[in-house]
Amino acid sequence: MDAYGPAPRRVTRQVRVGNVLVGGGAPVVVQSMTNTDTADVAATVKQVADLWRAGSELVRVTVNTAAAAAAVPRIVERLRMMSVEVPVIGDFHYNGHQLLAREPACAQALAKYRINPGNVGFGNKRDTQFAQLIEFALRHDKPVRIGANWGSLDQDLATRLMDENARRAEPWDASRVLREALIRSALDSAQRAIELGLPAERIILSAKVSGVQELVAVYRDLSARSDFALHLGLTEAGIGSKGIVASSAALAVLLQEGIGDTIRISLTPEPGASRTQEVIVAQELLQTLGLRAFTPMVTACPGCGRTTSEFFQQLAKVVQEHVREKMPQWKITHPGAEHLTLAVMGCVVNGPGESRHADIGISLPGTGEAPAAPVFVDGEKTVTLRGDGIAADFVAIIDDYVER
Ligand code: SF4
Repeated sequence: MDAYGPAPRRVTRQVRVGNVLVGGGAPVVVQSMTNTDTADVAATVKQVADLWRAGSELVRVTVNTAAAAAAVPRIVERLRMMSVEVPVIGDFHYNGHQLLAREPACAQALAKYRINPGNVGFGNKRDTQFAQLIEFALRHDKPVRIGANWGSLDQDLATRLMDENARRAEPWDASRVLREALIRSALDSAQRAIELGLPAERIILSAKVSGVQELVAVYRDLSARSDFALHLGLTEAGIGSKGIVASSAALAVLLQEGIGDTIRISLTPEPGASRTQEVIVAQELLQTLGLRAFTPMVTACPGCGRTTSEFFQQLAKVVQEHVREKMPQWKITHPGAEHLTLAVMGCVVNGPGESRHADIGISLPGTGEAPAAPVFVDGEKTVTLRGDGIAADFVAIIDDYVER
């Protein structure tokens, strides 16, 4: 058997979140979260809209105070007026039952509620407050995500499992007990929600940890033990390249195995960096794995001593930015353009070969080569570009190809 490509998607129950389908064979959904104070309506509307324009198909906002809950219906209404059609999800911790009771318009405006079973309530209040949240989901006809997290694990459950483990003939190591606590927290809470009347088709599960190997182990187990739609994410992944690499490593393994129905890349943005970076990383992860297509993919060589200047790096950047900018329009006027493959190469060594593999490719002149840049379209050399206008001419060839 040819083992090429990702495994078939695991069969999960499909959940409708606003106008977006999650699981049950739907394409893997990209989501993200704002970092504004939700009570600041203008800032939150702007960031939700920016994330949506970048390609986030679901956006979550913190709902942590009465002011934030009161702001939610206004945020959703403003987004609707701007034709930003993205389901907004409320992220609740500790006091969600109180906020939803106080602001029914918030409960109605949100497309889904995220409930953390580790802090929904403590001691004997846990069951009551969890039941109240499920009651709001039933009353307003909303799905929920039961999102367990390593950093806010249900301590009563963890202690109980530690005690059980101590009585085992061959005790598990502490890491395995904690993983089991995380999984049980999610699964037991989902079962409780079903007993309270919420259909399984309105439940998404997540169980996030910050270690790559732990995350892979947790989700393999969770996937084997249930058919709920799964939200994947490495929590607290970190800043810059560390966050990108760790998230990609963990999620790629799981997605390749067919596990995961929606993903979030939780990056700590570099100071001044855009929040939308996490959306682009999520899209690129899904596209490079061959699971979805969002924007034409640009293949570029790293450059070496054979490149005469940084021009080819600049051209790769110009091409990447151009197609990313054009894609929202192409999505409407030229659906399918997202599958285009482009190559920008630095010299004759791999330039012509790589360019022939792409739909459109260019091989720039390296050290000692004639100042000419052959362009390949559908594997055939079509034209040779020269002079100062190479970048503009190449971009025009791409646009023309999409038009045709
Ligand atoms: Fe260097 Fe040429 Fe290879 Fe690019 S294609 S890395 S310039 S040898």
